[in-house]
Order: sequence, then C-alpha cells, then structure tokens
Amino acid sequence: MPSATSDAVTLDRLRAVCQPLLDPSGFIPGPEADERYCTDWSRARGQPLAVLRPRNTDEVSRLLTALHALRQPVVLQGGMTGLTGACVPQVGEVVLSLERLRDIEEIDTVSGTVTVQAGVSLQALQQAVEAQGLLFPVDIGSRGSCQIGGIIANNAGGNRVLRYGMTRQSVLGLEVVLADGTVISRMGKALKDNAGYDLKHVFIGSEGSLGVITRALLALQPLPVSRQSALVAVEGFDAVTALLTQCRKHLGPRLSSFEVMWRDFFDISTGLLKKGRPGLNLAGSHVVLVEAMGMDPEQDDALFAQTLGAFQTDHSGCEVILAQSLTDAQDLWSIREAAGEAALVVAPWAGFDVSLPLAHMAAWADEVRARLRGMGLSQTQTYGHLGDGNLHLVVGLGPEPTRKAEVHELVHRTVGALGGSISGEHGIGLAKKAHLHYCRSAAEINMMKLMKTSLDPHGILNRGRIFDLP
Ligand SMILES: Cc1cc2nc3c(=O)[nH]c(=O)nc-3n(C[C@H](O)[C@H](O)[C@H](O)COP(=O)(O)OP(=O)(O)OC[C@H]3O[C@@H](n4cnc5c(N)ncnc54)[C@H](O)[C@@H]3O)c2cc1C
Repeated sequence: MPSATSDAVTLDRLRAVCQPLLDPSGFIPGPEADERYCTDWSRARGQPLAVLRPRNTDEVSRLLTALHALRQPVVLQGGMTGLTGACVPQVGEVVLSLERLRDIEEIDTVSGTVTVQAGVSLQALQQAVEAQGLLFPVDIGSRGSCQIGGIIANNAGGNRVLRYGMTRQSVLGLEVVLADGTVISRMGKALKDNAGYDLKHVFIGSEGSLGVITRALLALQPLPVSRQSALVAVEGFDAVTALLTQCRKHLGPRLSSFEVMWRDFFDISTGLLKKGRPGLNLAGSHVVLVEAMGMDPEQDDALFAQTLGAFQTDHSGCEVILAQSLTDAQDLWSIREAAGEAALVVAPWAGFDVSLPLAHMAAWADEVRARLRGMGLSQTQTYGHLGDGNLHLVVGLGPEPTRKAEVHELVHRTVGALGGSISGEHGIGLAKKAHLHYCRSAAEINMMKLMKTSLDPHGILNRGRIFDLP
C-alpha cells in the first residue's frame, strides 16, 4: 500500500483538479467512501483514493482529460454486480462511478428504440419500455442493480440469449468517452450504416478498458402478450438435449429460455433456500426451466402444453410442471434466480461461467466434478443457460480457500482443451486474466493489447483488467 503521506499528497492534488469540475456531492475522498464503492459481487475489496460521480458526458469528458494529464489510474463502476473483481479499486485508483447518469431520454415507439444514459438500471429500463408496449430483451438476475453501461461493457447474456442474442445484438449506437477525454458519439437511428468501421463493437464487451460508455441507443422488440413457463425434470443429459431439440422444432422463435439445473443446484435452491412452491418434489438428474413468449395467448398456451406433453409421453420418468399463472411462473423462476444466494451458502467459493459445445458439456461437467471430489471439494452447484451453451459452476472451497488457483486451473484448462471459452458472459476482469490464453491465441491477445495502447496510451482505464501490460 502507498504510505499515508503519498496518499495525502495525491488526494490533495486530485481534489484540486477534480472538485472544480463537479458539483459538491460529485467528489468523495477515499476515506469517506461508502462500502459500495469498495467491493463488487466477487466479494474482493479495495480502497479508492477518491470517488468521482459525474452527472453527464461533458463532466466525464472533462474529468478524463484531467486524469489523463495526471496519468491517474481510474476504475469504472456501474451497478457493481460484476463477478470478476474488475470494479474493485486497486491501490492508487480513483473510482469513476456512472451512478448519476440516470436519464431515460427518449422512448421512440415508431422506430422501436430507446435513448438512455449509462447509469440507468436494467430493471428501470425494462419497466419504462414495457409501459409503452415494448420489450428490452436483455434480462439477467441482477436486473435491479446492474446498469445499462455495465451490461454493454460486459456484453451481458442472461435468460433470453436463445431468442434475442447477447446485449451486443440490441445496441444500435453508443456515446463513449476515451481515456483522454475525447467524446465519440454515434447515436443515429439509421439502421443501415456501413461507413467505415462500426466502432461501437470495439467498446461492447471491452469491460471498461477502452472507454467510458455514457449513453446508448438500444433496439426494442414488440412486447410479447403471452408467456408460458414450465419445469421439466428428466433423467440424463441426452434427455435434456432431446428436449431442447423438441422445443426448438415445435415452439420455433417463441422459445425464449432454456435454463438447466443439475441436482446439486436444484436441491440447494428448493431445499435449503426454500425456493419454488412448498412441497415441490421432482426426481431426475436435471431440471429444465423452459419459457416461451408469443403474440397469441390461446394458441401459444396450447402449443406449449402440447409440446411438453408429447415429450413426456415419449420419455418415461419425465415430469412436467406447467405454470398456471404469473405467480406460478415467478415461483419457478425464483428457483433458478437463487443462484447468487446459493453461492453464498458455500462461501468462500470459486465461480465459473464457461461456454462449451453442447456435445461436450455433460461429460465435461461429470469429469470436472469427479476430479474436484478427488481433491476433497464436493460442494458444487451446476446450472446454466444451456440453450446457448453456457454453463455456470460454483465450487465451495471450504476451509482451504487457498485452493482457488488450483480449481481455476483445472476448470479453465479443461474447457480450453475442448475448444470452449473460459467466459461465456461475465468477462475476464481480474479473476480470470491469468487464463485468457486457454481460449485466445497469442496473436489475438497481442491485438487486444495494441487496441488498448492505441486508445489509452497511459493505461489509465481499468488498468490490469483482462491482461497486464508492461
Ligand atoms: C445474481 C446475479 C446474476 C447474474 N446473472 C448474469 C447473467 O445471467 N448474465 C450475465 O451476463 N451476467 C450476469 N451477472 C453478472 C453481472 O450482473 C453482469 O456482468 C452485468 O453486466 C454487470 O453490470 P454492472 O452495471 O453491475 O457492471 P459493474 O459490475 O459495475 O461493472 C462490470 C464491468 O463493466 C465496467 N463498466 C461498468 N460501467 C461501465 C461504463 N458505463 N462504461 C464502461 N465500462 C463500464 C466495469 O469497469 C467492469 O469492468 C449476474 C450477477 C449477479 C450478481
């Protein structure tokens, strides 16, 4: 840690430079910073030198111009629901929080777009557009806290990727402030635009390492008027993939979610955490949460029930629980959405969100969990957005949290060997950077570094996240 004296000098200098650029509540000295600026969902903790809370793009730009001149490292913070430790202030960093950029500027029902500031929460955006008969299709369990800037910076996935794609597919335009304060704004509503490079894609999924997202133009979808949900318990992973094939074939584009829970997760969620309806008792090695959304309530309900009914007839031992109401559906979803709570049960834990070809997934999960048991680590939770090949694995580390590195190595190396990705959704941040090479070639990592150094030559933005630079 830097000494108190050097801290104080730096803090004074920061105050002198940054405070005049902000309103009185925009500058918080580090020692007075609330706990929420010190830790994210990874549960790592750090202490910022100061917290900067701009209110608009212009303030972000003027702050970065000043911080760039000072070569002052900055960590960007959105809703702090990230799971890779990327937002946790490292020694000597100032926090740039987007929490006050909270305007939903325009909902355009004709073009089906919304213009929004980066600090708006996902849930606030979903509710605002639904009131206008439209849908913002990205949906993740942390919706109440995560912000639009955060989900774009992480290219979040979530429950409906199967139907609507990752966040990237819903971003039409972005306003971004570069490390030196330059504002890049391309927020036009023209759908077709091939004039040179499509720069927004450089920033989507860049985990705050290339620029600060301040505003976004997002595509909306028609709001479905029917929604069907069911839990389907099956025996064996082959039955899971058979169910997916059947749902794709018969429900077509209506199929919106296909979430699979292995018993090690399902039992904790419904047992210890008492999620779902009381007395829910399902056998089977896997329980699948299937959801469809459509535009014709009567036909959609019938088609959904028929599809699952036919599957049940063909697969003995399969059990189906159809939600009969919105409350029923919320009950079913509460089982899957207990993931955050369930991880706390086995804290300290190592968490993974790997992505694998479906053909390898079951064997990989069995093999890795067997090896973990061999290491004395039998507390696992396995679940995921299986429709898009994304699997989450939580491993309770018990009394020996020092084994985290060993567990990371096992999981990431084996995923890389099968041509999978060490991050399906959550990004690399600090937690996984040592293993980026398991799923990206040296040439790819080199190109990432070239992009970083050309856009942020002093390396002030989210330094040391994703990869290290000399
Ligand atoms: C219970 C729970 C469920 C979750 N489910 C999912 C899921 O299904 N799918 C999924 O993908 N993720 C999921 N997550 C992870 C997390 O919610 C997402 O990664 C989300 O995108 C993070 O948004 P945030 O605003 O909280 O970002 P933060 O955690 O604040 O930041 C995440 C990263 O983005 C950067 N950043 C934040 N704001 C900006 C900005 N305006 N400009 C540039 N960079 C910025 C940060 O520096 C950091 O690198 C879940 C998390 C929890 C706790």
